[in-house]
Amino acid sequence: YDVKRAGLGFGFYDAGNDPHTPRRLRLMTELRRGLEKEELRLHYQPKVDLASGHVTGVEALVRWQHPKHGLLYPDEFLPMASRTGLINPLTDWVLQAALRQCMDWRAQGMRVRIAVNVDAMAFQQADLAERIFALLTRTGAPAECLEIEITENLLTGDLDKCSAVLARLADRGITIAIDDYGTGYSSLAYLKQLSLHTLKIDKSFVMDMCHDENDAVIVRSTVDLAHNLGYTVVAEGVEDAEILQLLEILGCDSAQGYHIARPMEPDALAAWLSQRPAG
Ligand code: C2E
Ligand code: MG
Ligand code: MG
Ligand code: MG
Repeated sequence: YDVKRAGLGFGFYDAGNDPHTPRRLRLMTELRRGLEKEELRLHYQPKVDLASGHVTGVEALVRWQHPKHGLLYPDEFLPMASRTGLINPLTDWVLQAALRQCMDWRAQGMRVRIAVNVDAMAFQQADLAERIFALLTRTGAPAECLEIEITENLLTGDLDKCSAVLARLADRGITIAIDDYGTGYSSLAYLKQLSLHTLKIDKSFVMDMCHDENDAVIVRSTVDLAHNLGYTVVAEGVEDAEILQLLEILGCDSAQGYHIARPMEPDALAAWLSQRPAG
């Protein structure tokens, strides 16, 4: 049971957050089957370099094509999967599907790095690095194909353990990004202790940054902090041209958001990429 998610334990009942509602419990049983029946899908959303416009990579975002409920988004099933062991086979499935896709695209002459979100719970598994290396071998994908996005909250756990896993992944050539940066509870100490390459500023700071001075200050400070530590910095939630322009002025390296492109099915992404100037 995740105490942090439940606040201090005095919270009000919130059916939206309760993993034990009948519908959600049923969904978990169905997800186990859905994994076997290959009902999960990955959509891909590009990230672009602000200075050149080149695509720096794509992020894989999981969806579940449910036979009755249609296309389900991660918010509907990931929190529960994270509290049950299901997150581990799901993570393996996502990693394998992303690496296979990377190889398919390479066979078509498209080289693009794929970022995969790895849940905090999956990171508690001591063999995570080995499983990732085994998937690289099995799919034949080079480590440079893969970026791992981890949310800042996971770093409130066992930092030494996490640090060791991240170092092994980074040594192998896998890029590591901190996702939803700025929303976690962790101290800044981890920034110098972990093998990181990228900070990804959470969309809650980015979406209103043109109208909210505080958000703009947070984004600017994060860009400077990241650069001073030698990391690149990405902004998510770029919904209009004004935000894109301000990010460029603030020196942010790359951007991701609906204004650039929505998450897309693999074929749509390939078509979108082919319209872009080569990078
Ligand atoms: P995230 O990794 O921070 O991904 C960004 C989310 O913001 C995605 O939602 C994306 O569709 C959405 N987004 C992208 N651009 C914009 C924009 O301009 N405006 C707004 N308002 N939203 C935008 P999605 O696909 O629903 O995923 C939600 C979260 O679920 C992700 O947040 C990530 O934490 C998690 N997730 C997604 N796929 C996976 C996965 O395969 N494994 C794990 N462990 N987590 C995943
Ligand atoms: Mg992400
Ligand atoms: Mg994010
Ligand atoms: Mg986010």
